[in-house]
Amino acid sequence: METRYLGESGLEVSVIGLGCNNFGGRLDESRTESVVSAAIDSGITLFDTADIYGGDGRSEIFLGKALTGRRDEVVIATKFAGPMGDLPMQKGGSRRYILNAVEDSLRRLGTDYIDLYQMHFPDLNTPLDETMRALDDLVRDGKVRYIGHSNFTGWMIAHAHHLAREHSLTPFISAQNHYHLLNREVEPDVQPACTKFGLGILPYFPLASGLLTGKYRKGQPRPEGARLTSGPMADRMLTDQNMDKAELLLDWSESRGHSLLELAFSWLAQQPAVASVIAGATSVEQVEANVDAANWILTSEELTEIEDMLR
Ligand code: NAP
Repeated sequence: METRYLGESGLEVSVIGLGCNNFGGRLDESRTESVVSAAIDSGITLFDTADIYGGDGRSEIFLGKALTGRRDEVVIATKFAGPMGDLPMQKGGSRRYILNAVEDSLRRLGTDYIDLYQMHFPDLNTPLDETMRALDDLVRDGKVRYIGHSNFTGWMIAHAHHLAREHSLTPFISAQNHYHLLNREVEPDVQPACTKFGLGILPYFPLASGLLTGKYRKGQPRPEGARLTSGPMADRMLTDQNMDKAELLLDWSESRGHSLLELAFSWLAQQPAVASVIAGATSVEQVEANVDAANWILTSEELTEIEDMLR
């Protein structure tokens, strides 16, 4: 498994990571354990979870249990800022909240340090330097090794960079944003900011929730029990436009001897600043397919053809 440095840091992560938002929701404790073991055995080192995944912190709890005895082999990335209760102080980026939230995540994960602690969403009501000072304290205390953010825009990334420089605070090293072949909104804004300020991108929803695996086909019944088989997310993702583009990309990949899954991973892994593609998986078979899917080195001609198809 190829590894990459996360932004301008010394933290090396596998180019394929594992998104853990199915843990505690679609996956119970024992299936979580199988998926995590298969991921580690296949060379995945980066596990991305969040306090809010799975409800009541269950994704962190299940991940922590599944990592028993293997903590030293992995990089744990988790997140704070999403609502963990109904009270106003149970979310966001205030010092008060962060200092409590980190203790809760450490306890649920069963570890005494978090490798990458990410701010899940921007909090425009809290001064960013308050958030960054609290995070800096966690790094100095040894509870957190590195910090990242998620869903920030380009100006927020620049603002954070300058605050870190001005006040000698720990800088963010990663940006987690929505990014895949069918959603490229990071490209004009977030991606150049990451390149300029030395952050690694961790694209989320890299498989468009499964649409880019090739299992949803136009005019064919949807696979049983899959994420986009029914529900509001299915309506949002499986639009005619997205289905048409996925069909085009699938035919194009297959005509070159590759799968749509390989295209989805390999294309993302070749984009500027991308450090690790953190796809979710609901089975051992999916993990095994995913770890082999980023090996297609797309030529510049192929990349241009993709641009033309998606235009
Ligand atoms: P995703 O990676 O785009 O899609 C994952 C889903 O696709 C799996 O749960 C599985 O669902 C299906 N799948 C995966 N591999 C497959 C394969 N080889 N063959 C067939 N189907 C396959 O979406 P995601 O898991 O939601 O996103 C990845 C990670 O990003 C999350 O786990 C989370 O860590 C992170 N995330 C972050 C944010 C944020 O705001 N920071 C938001 C969303 C997600 P089925 O088996 O059910 O079809």
